[in-house]
Amino acid sequence: MKKKPTTDRYTLADIENWQAIVREVDPPIRLGVFGDPVAHSLSPQMQNAALKHCQIEMQYARFHIRPNELASAVSFLTGLDFAGVNLTVPHKIAAVGLVDELNENAKRIGAVNTVKINQGKLIGLNTDGRGFSRAIREEFSVDLRDLRVLILGAGGAGRAIALQCAQENCERLVLANRTFDKAKKLADDLVGFFAGPKVFGPVPRLHAIPWEEQAIRFQIGHVDLIVNATPIGLNRSDSSPIPAQLLAPHLMIYDTIYSESRTPFVSAATEAGARAANGLSMLLHQGALSFEIWFQREAPLEVMRAALAL
Ligand code: NDP
Repeated sequence: MKKKPTTDRYTLADIENWQAIVREVDPPIRLGVFGDPVAHSLSPQMQNAALKHCQIEMQYARFHIRPNELASAVSFLTGLDFAGVNLTVPHKIAAVGLVDELNENAKRIGAVNTVKINQGKLIGLNTDGRGFSRAIREEFSVDLRDLRVLILGAGGAGRAIALQCAQENCERLVLANRTFDKAKKLADDLVGFFAGPKVFGPVPRLHAIPWEEQAIRFQIGHVDLIVNATPIGLNRSDSSPIPAQLLAPHLMIYDTIYSESRTPFVSAATEAGARAANGLSMLLHQGALSFEIWFQREAPLEVMRAALAL
């Protein structure tokens, strides 16, 4: 058979006619990422480098699956002999209702970014929180337990990051979201983690705030790390989620958005004299954790990092 690596973007129509579509593809595609849009995803280059390095005879492809197609696409997975998939925007929350089993972490977060197929069963997991934690340690040489953290966004990524901060007993956690009720609900879900008075002072350890300049300005002096877990910055025309004038040099800024050039948030942080990193390191670590779930072996982290040109 002709060796043919895949660089294509597949669709639900391709999945429905899979054997004919991938007849010449070798090694076989048995992993992938479902997203909409998905063309920009860097997961295929990272995971394919890892598969090749470990001599695992599989390929990882990108699948453009629209929201109304997700249930069908997922239902085909077991029949296609897939080992698993990753889910990205906007499928992480919808996938919760489509898998056979959810692990405890994915259940708490309410979002799935990794599916493992085990003896015909779809198991939903989430590696975003742990990937974030490793990225913060790598970028800033500090552990979440020593940080006062402000998270912007309470969607799938925001919830995963907030739960991780809570589980690692961070010093403070402040949650801001455009829709305030979601930040409040997330804070309510995490209240059990913050029973102890770790920080003495005028500010509560766990706090939901409205996404308003005055509220954010007040918090700046009481946090160490600000995380952007919204899509603000994905478009070139976006401005920073927090303007440079509100930021301060003592801050660490982590933008979950990744891009080759500086994201608007990273630019604003640099302008304010703060340290900043974008989401490539989180992408790397959440992907390495997915690999470990699929193959029960250590991921070749440096190979994956090189594939992302970090
Ligand atoms: P969701 O759609 O689940 O959540 C989006 C969140 O952003 C919501 O809280 C939403 O607020 C908020 N939001 C959306 N648009 C705006 C806006 N214009 N102004 C203010 N807030 C806004 O997405 P995810 O949580 O899955 O993903 C969020 C981002 O995180 C993505 O852009 C993705 O790139 C990044 N990400 C990066 C990863 C990495 O490995 N680097 C991993 C996972 C995610 P509301 O509730 O009001 O709608």
